[in-house]
Amino acid sequence: MAQYYNENTVLWLDGAILKASEARTDLYGQSLHYGYSVFEGIRSYRTANGKTKIFKAEEHFDRLQRSAAALNMPYRYTTPELIIAAYDILDRNNLQDAYIRPVVYGPANMSFNPNTESFTVIETWEMAPFLGEKLLKVMTSSFQRPNPKGFKIEAKAAGHYVNSIMASHEAKGKGFDEALLTDMNGFIAEGPGANMFFEKGGRLYTPATGNILPGITRATVLELCAELDIPVEQGRYTGADLKQADAAFFCGTAAEVIGWASIDDYTFPQPWKTTQSKKIQQAYKDKVIEKQPKLETI
Ligand code: PMP
Repeated sequence: MAQYYNENTVLWLDGAILKASEARTDLYGQSLHYGYSVFEGIRSYRTANGKTKIFKAEEHFDRLQRSAAALNMPYRYTTPELIIAAYDILDRNNLQDAYIRPVVYGPANMSFNPNTESFTVIETWEMAPFLGEKLLKVMTSSFQRPNPKGFKIEAKAAGHYVNSIMASHEAKGKGFDEALLTDMNGFIAEGPGANMFFEKGGRLYTPATGNILPGITRATVLELCAELDIPVEQGRYTGADLKQADAAFFCGTAAEVIGWASIDDYTFPQPWKTTQSKKIQQAYKDKVIEKQPKLETI
């Protein structure tokens, strides 16, 4: 298992700075028993000028608040308060390239009654930037994403991730790197922890919102498409559409932008380095570290 903390690591728990190895939670908690908590996955980077920057911090903490509201959870902090806390805990742990994991969870409560209190923790751990250019072998999962009529699919709720874990186990058990899940109608939706795009004839396509977690990285990719003049469409696409594509990639805060080698037995024909997708990958890499685009010499 990965090493998330050591004897010196501290975390933020409702304003207190505690040693990760000593902090406690309640084993009678409603969140532990029923998967009833909300969380975020956020990245910080050492930027080109050496500073620590949380990428899209407001967007992530605003989504945390929306996720809590969607699940009727009491929410105790403002986005600016949590951003200050996140920078503080990064600094105390001496981290720049890191993953930041806030979780809002409930108290001891074995019933299904609503809570009047909640707890908020912020944990951080080191995460190296861009671990190379490996292309993924992806498998169409036998698991579908949760039905949006059964779950608040746009909330980042812990319980939804049982679906993600099952899909990922299945794919890895069959020798693939990752899973692609379809929605309840059989259209391609997203990975267990990332959104996806595919490329055909220089255009990008991504599943529309409604059956996916609308990712902050997905939104960033859409912005980059506008900046780079890459045409992009959002819609309902099938596995057959994907299997005629030139290239494809996952995008998410942790995954960043990562290309695919294949889906099931279909290998994407266009060399990754010649794709528009690769341009997006590079532009994303530059954006998170605030690297200035090279000025054209006139
Ligand atoms: N879909 C799912 C199911 C996810 O868990 C994630 C990761 N949060 C994403 C998409 C991508 O979202 P983001 O770009 O905001 O990290």
